[in-house]
Amino acid sequence: MNVVKDGWFSEIGPLWKGQAFSLEVDKVLFHEKSKYQDVQVLKSKTYGNVLVLDGVIQCTEREEFSYQEMITHIPLNSHPNPEKVLVIGGGDGGAVRELTRHPAVKEVTMCEIDEKVVEVSKKYLPNQSLGFDSPKLTLHIGDGFDFMSKHEGEFDVIITDSSDPIGPASSLFQKSYYELVKNALRPGGISCSQGECMWLHLELIKEMMTFCKELFPVVDYSFAATPAYPSGQIGFLLCCLNPEANLREPVRILTEEQIKEMKLRYYNADVHRASFVLPQFAKEVLEK
Ligand code: SAM
Repeated sequence: MNVVKDGWFSEIGPLWKGQAFSLEVDKVLFHEKSKYQDVQVLKSKTYGNVLVLDGVIQCTEREEFSYQEMITHIPLNSHPNPEKVLVIGGGDGGAVRELTRHPAVKEVTMCEIDEKVVEVSKKYLPNQSLGFDSPKLTLHIGDGFDFMSKHEGEFDVIITDSSDPIGPASSLFQKSYYELVKNALRPGGISCSQGECMWLHLELIKEMMTFCKELFPVVDYSFAATPAYPSGQIGFLLCCLNPEANLREPVRILTEEQIKEMKLRYYNADVHRASFVLPQFAKEVLEK
């Protein structure tokens, strides 16, 4: 398990062999093993508080907005009427914060496996966890795969804000999970999932896009700059039940006033469009 050594936390892990992002740490604010994983919160010198699960950085106060805004506002603004939204994972609350701020969203359901993550996020990540107070939210504690198998035709948008495919999240990267997601969506529904990093996991992304294309008429991939994730970048795997949909063009353009009101700092309509433009090495693999 990654520990703080000589005042620095280094993210060493099997999914990014031979490299490690490091943060200088002021203080370990919390460290405990939950029923599912090792949970740490660090106070870093320059990235604010940092949530670490099983030695892997999940979010930092300084730059979490990039990931949280993109995993939510891309699918929301690709859907004509995203009233009912489900989040699987997302225990830090950032995705829920974004969803509950969106004027079109009426109800948010969240299923997070680990109550401890919600508890520590409420205490140490107040700017993310404020979404937990929204009257639009219903929170379930349980396994996302099981939850999905019990819901049919219910959601306009499903967001899988999961950790990496080692540990409790491994089932959320399987074809059988996407079969359940398809069933749980309403007609025209959109799924958007944490889609790993094209610099590190291109083959995994390709494999997932291939099985998703067997299930959904529209499958696409977008990405964002995320300084604290491995290689500084993360992607989003998008699937849509509407065969006419073009996820690359927002169906709703947020005005400057709406962007201010919603406190957006990364997402806008131009970023939405640009996030689907892949560099050549990824395009050759993912768009063939
Ligand atoms: N943005 C982060 C990233 O890309 O690494 C993910 C953040 S969020 C904290 C991930 C959450 O997924 C964790 O709180 C974890 O407990 C939850 N999770 C993992 N497996 C799960 C499962 N099978 N069902 C529901 N939640 C799950």
